[in-house]
Amino acid sequence: MTIKLSDLDKLQLLRGASDEALFAEADRIRREVYGDAVYLRGLIEFTNYCRNDCYYCGIRKGNRNLSRYRLDKETILGCCREGYGLGYRTFVLQGGEDPYFADAPHGGAVSDGDRRLCDIVASIHEEFPDCAITLSVGERSRESYQRLFEAGARRYLLRHEAASGELYRTLHPAEMSIENRKRCLYDLKDIGYQVGAGLMVGAPGQTLTHLLDDLHFMEDLKPDMIGIGPYLRHADTPLGKSSAACAQGLDKEEKLKLTLRLLAVLRIMFPYALIPSTTALGTIDPNGRELGLKAGANVVMPNLSPAEVREQYELYDNKICTGEESAQCRSCLEQRVMSAGYRIVTDIGDVKHE
Ligand code: SAH
Repeated sequence: MTIKLSDLDKLQLLRGASDEALFAEADRIRREVYGDAVYLRGLIEFTNYCRNDCYYCGIRKGNRNLSRYRLDKETILGCCREGYGLGYRTFVLQGGEDPYFADAPHGGAVSDGDRRLCDIVASIHEEFPDCAITLSVGERSRESYQRLFEAGARRYLLRHEAASGELYRTLHPAEMSIENRKRCLYDLKDIGYQVGAGLMVGAPGQTLTHLLDDLHFMEDLKPDMIGIGPYLRHADTPLGKSSAACAQGLDKEEKLKLTLRLLAVLRIMFPYALIPSTTALGTIDPNGRELGLKAGANVVMPNLSPAEVREQYELYDNKICTGEESAQCRSCLEQRVMSAGYRIVTDIGDVKHE
């Protein structure tokens, strides 16, 4: 079930007459569906190679000030073993669109990249049959998504980034398109994945009208998971450089507020959705993830990547949690969840459609 809001209602909520009433309503709805549960997802950032050049992203191909890494299968399985011991029952493999794992250029044929990625997924699935495998590795052909599903992946995170073609084009190079991004999301859904869409709040040039476009798109897609966080600049990206030069856009406080309001609106519109309180929220404000939980988020994604590569997965400047061991990260988040008034649960945490 989804709840219909008029565009006027959406805009009024985003402009925020009263945060407290909005957050209380979101919290009420979340408790109705999920109680005080907060689901854990162990995030493994397994490669920072990327063939794309998104104008906002720190691991874009054009960033030469970054040393690149790729974890091998044994290292990834080691992360999963550590995570399993810490109670994780979902592993999220996220990375850039690494050419080493790429699908065949026009779909159809199995590529070496498909084989490598399928092999990793199948090995995790075999060793941890009671765990969910989530992938977040960008745009691929339908055939490739199908193979990964058959290898054992069941969830896929692919933020649509901007449903408006006009805004999408100012954030991405010409060879990327919102049409292909949407095609991927509908293919994934059709194959049977639980699908996550989402966007960055306060991206340069983004207006409330663009956010309405995002809400309309998600009303159509009905994503199982929704990932949103504030846009944060990275100094070695085109947008990071230009926003430093002209200081346009929302300031930190405004971005935090708008992200929290959008989170609450999403919870009200999609009562069943799994919505993480993201690392970007924790980066923009030390208390950001607690505030996110209170505004309707019900997932946290502690980092399980080996400590020595964490700094190299720098999507934006000053990303938090890069210096910690996995166990520290887990207990830090547990404390935060408890202090916000919720409870970590360690089951597999599938989406609850009624
Ligand atoms: N290659 C994968 C994973 C991308 S990184 C994919 O295409 O889905 C995961 C998310 O980080 C992106 O979807 C984007 O929304 C977010 N991100 C990237 N750069 C960011 C920045 N500068 N500020 C905030 N979030 C950012």
